[in-house]
Amino acid sequence: MSVTDSAGAPRRGKIGRVINDRRLRRSQHLHSAVATLAGIAGLLAASLLAILDRPVSALDLGIFAGFFLAIGLGVTVGFHRHFAHRAFQATPATRAALAILGCMAAQGPVVFWVALHRLHHEFSDRPGDPHSPNLAGSSAFQRIKGLLHAYIGWTVRHPVPNANYYARDLLADRRLMWINRRYYAWIALGLVLPAALSGLIAQSALGAAEGLVWGGLIRLFAVHNIIWWITSLAHAAGRRDYLSGDRSTNNIWIALPTLGEGWHNNHHGFPRAAVLSFEWWQIDISGLVIRLLERCGLAWDIHAPTPAALAARRRGEA
Ligand SMILES: [Zn+2]
Ligand SMILES: [Zn+2]
Repeated sequence: MSVTDSAGAPRRGKIGRVINDRRLRRSQHLHSAVATLAGIAGLLAASLLAILDRPVSALDLGIFAGFFLAIGLGVTVGFHRHFAHRAFQATPATRAALAILGCMAAQGPVVFWVALHRLHHEFSDRPGDPHSPNLAGSSAFQRIKGLLHAYIGWTVRHPVPNANYYARDLLADRRLMWINRRYYAWIALGLVLPAALSGLIAQSALGAAEGLVWGGLIRLFAVHNIIWWITSLAHAAGRRDYLSGDRSTNNIWIALPTLGEGWHNNHHGFPRAAVLSFEWWQIDISGLVIRLLERCGLAWDIHAPTPAALAARRRGEA
C-alpha cells in the first residue's frame, strides 16, 4: 500500500491525499454498487406489490417521507454541513444523532464521506475532483459522458481518500469513531426501523415488508439520487451567482428535493455557511432545521457570511 497525491503531485511528507490500495478501492466500489442495487430492488419490490393488488398506501408514503427526511437531513445537516464543513457547533447527542442518521443512508461511514467531500472541495471541477461533470470535454457527447460520470459512474471509480489527511479532526473524536465503526449496524437499523414501525401500525407482516420496501429500500434509492443530483447537476445546470472558483450552480429545482443543497454555488462560494439561503426566496430546508436546532439550544456558532463578504463575491451575470 502506498500513499500519493490524487492530483499526481509529489506526496506531501508521509501523508498523501489518497490511498492507493486496490483491495480497499474494490471494497468501497462494491459497497456503492450493492447500495445502488438494493435501492433498485426496492423499486422492483414496490412494483411487484402494486401488481399483486397492493397499491401504494398513505402509510407507505408517510413511512417513506419520514425516513427520507430524517436520513436525508443526517447527510445534509450532519455529514455535510456539520462534520465536513464545521458550519455550526452542536451538542454531543445532536452530533451522535446526525452521524447515525447519516450512516443509515449507506453512502459510506461518516469519516470516509467527509474525507471524500473535502477532496471534492479541494479540487472542485479540476483534475482530482472525484465527481465533476465538467472534465470529460466540451462536445455534446463528452458533456453527457461527464454528467453520467458525475451522477453514478464515480461511485464505482472514485479514489480512496486518506482520512488521515482529510479528516484528522474526526479521527480524534472517540465518540464519533465508535459510531463510525458500527456503520453497517446503522444501515441495518435504517432498514429495520421503518419495517417495525410500519408493521406495528398495519398490524401485519405484510405491513412490515412494505415498510422495509418504502422506508428502507426506496428511501435508500431516493437519498442516493438526491446526492447524485448535487454531484452532477449542481455543477452543470443553473445560475452562478457567486465567484467560487469552479462550475457549481444554484438551482431551485435541485434545491427543493435536496433539502437545500442545490444552492450549491452559494455553498462553494461560502463553504462554511450553515444556511445556504442567501435570498428570502431561496428555500433551504436543511438551513431551517439548523436554525430550529439553534432555537432548541442544540446548535450554536452558526456560520454565516457577512453582507460585505456576499457583495464582494457576487457575480454580475448568471
Ligand atoms: Zn461541501
Ligand atoms: Zn460541489
